[in-house]
Amino acid sequence: MLESTTSRDADGFVTTSITGDGNLSIVVTTDQKGGSICSNGIKEVCPFCGRQDCYAACDDILELPTTDRDEACLSADARIPFNSAIDGMESLILAAACEGVDIGSAAFLKAIETTLDSIGNNFGE
Ligand SMILES: [Zn+2]
Repeated sequence: MLESTTSRDADGFVTTSITGDGNLSIVVTTDQKGGSICSNGIKEVCPFCGRQDCYAACDDILELPTTDRDEACLSADARIPFNSAIDGMESLILAAACEGVDIGSAAFLKAIETTLDSIGNNFGE
């Protein structure tokens, strides 16, 4: 179950923080010119270096024996489409926020949950 809080500061920045199970968080900040989105606890990370954007290219993986490296690359093959789908979801959430949609509303939070379930079913391990 996702929950949200929204705040507006004196400079016109609106920040919506969405939190869920575990350490899941999505923080969206917008102003009149655009916005940014940052999520945690959703994308899958490299088991060796812990980075979201490592696709079996970090030094830790390159130093593994070949058989272990193959396994790491297989894990990255599953991580790439999953994380890309999350990127797409994040883009839609940010775009909706920039267009004035109340992304903290119960209906929008439910839509995010459904999307996360769907991405997990299609691309998760
Ligand atoms: Zn790595």
